[in-house]
Amino acid sequence: MALAKDEDHNNGEKGPCSHFLVVAYGIQGHLNPARTLARRLASIGGCTVTLSLPISGHRRMFPSNENSHEEVSDGAISYIPFSDGKDDGSWPKDVEDRTQRREANFKSLSAVVKSLAASGQPVTCMVCTLSMPVVVQVAREHRLRLAVYWIQPATALATYYHYFHGHEELITQHATTPTYEVTLPGLHPLRIRDMPTFFTEKTHNEVSKMILQALHELFEQMDQEKPMVLVNTFDALEDAELKAIQPYVDVFVVGPAIPPLTALQRRNASEAQIHLFKQDEKNYMEWLNAQQEKSVVYLSFGSLITYTKRQVEEILHGLQSCRQPYLWVVRGEGRAEEADFHLGEANRGKGMVVEWCDQLQVLSHRSVRCFVTHCGWNSTLEAIASGVPMVAVPCWSDQPMNAHLVEQEWGVGVRAERDAEGVLTREELVSCLEFLMGDSEKAAQIRANANNLKERAQEAVAPDGPMERNLRRFIKRMQDLGSMHQENESVNIFNLIQ
Ligand code: UDP
Repeated sequence: MALAKDEDHNNGEKGPCSHFLVVAYGIQGHLNPARTLARRLASIGGCTVTLSLPISGHRRMFPSNENSHEEVSDGAISYIPFSDGKDDGSWPKDVEDRTQRREANFKSLSAVVKSLAASGQPVTCMVCTLSMPVVVQVAREHRLRLAVYWIQPATALATYYHYFHGHEELITQHATTPTYEVTLPGLHPLRIRDMPTFFTEKTHNEVSKMILQALHELFEQMDQEKPMVLVNTFDALEDAELKAIQPYVDVFVVGPAIPPLTALQRRNASEAQIHLFKQDEKNYMEWLNAQQEKSVVYLSFGSLITYTKRQVEEILHGLQSCRQPYLWVVRGEGRAEEADFHLGEANRGKGMVVEWCDQLQVLSHRSVRCFVTHCGWNSTLEAIASGVPMVAVPCWSDQPMNAHLVEQEWGVGVRAERDAEGVLTREELVSCLEFLMGDSEKAAQIRANANNLKERAQEAVAPDGPMERNLRRFIKRMQDLGSMHQENESVNIFNLIQ
């Protein structure tokens, strides 16, 4: 199946020997940066690129495609699914389930590599997003070059690295003291509460245990294979942290994985994201157009976090007390049914509730004033690139670390505290919003910092800017490695003949 040809793609020119197979999880937070990277490898590097997601994610990307195994092309890159052993989008229940799925996962991804070779487009390099050790295994099996795409901040990369290289015991010993400070090599001190939640949840949460195990395996593989690591960040954001990790990991800084604002404002169709959720039918862009400049509070907790009835109630009352217009994303599948009454209420008056929106379009709209966010790394980068100050309400994984960076390192937002039940209360929401939108010197400084970082982010993705240069350098290195690889192969054959 072929989608509309991409107008911005560079005349179909391909590099001499590169076919990248980029493999990602079938969730929105992995798809977005993986697809942006894939399209950049094609448009900036002139490479052939295939993006591979589990079948469940592929189906959601292309719902009109009846044959869910079929290859799809958008004129710039191709999409081929693989089976993760279950195909229904469910996460493994426990470590045993994960191990069972792993075998099927390995076979299916290997089959994708073989079928591409059989069709005359052999893969030369594989790229895996974050914790996908099976991709490393497939690359090893097929003797393919490999890169890891780190889709969290460089601070998280450095923190995980040191956790698995000598600091696990110290962190585990203080797991129950959230304010305990740990200083990892080259990094600013981090409190336990600012670290990835998996470190402290590994003993009582099966999902955290599994994810931490997968990451551990990935770091072990990285120690052996020494792959290049692409990081979705930019120098102005994490200069010191990038320097801190460089002695240990071969890093290429290729972020932020966000189109330039000019493309968003032009509503350039080729830059549009592929959404795994159906866009809400309400015309929220028209609604935003009707709002005053810098007046709207945008609130979204991403694609995975769910709402309890109490959480909906608290946010509703908080937003209503602020008296500002608000746009609030609550996914249909992400809320308790009993919350519907309050959501009906939230849709009246100054507010609009949608099940899903095009977040990049929303954040770059002139009427948006601030973003109440769970601090997923994509949402954080998108807010930074749009210059929108944040109320950070982290929940799990790298989100507390991102919230810490937002508030303490970059000064582009304020962190809200959840209560003992993990709920963001109405009082806390109001207090953070009033502070962020208020006239204090500190709030003005946050707005100035947000504008400054927006400029830096735009510079990073400008034509021939650092992101493009680093990506070209990365492709060149991959190609050079390929030539060396071929030379070694011919030497081996020569030895055999002799
Ligand atoms: N997103 C969107 N529309 C929405 C909510 C989220 O397009 O209504 C996108 C958002 O732009 C971001 C991704 O979904 O790129 C969520 O990724 P993130 O890392 O922020 O959080 P996750 O969903 O992985 O927790």
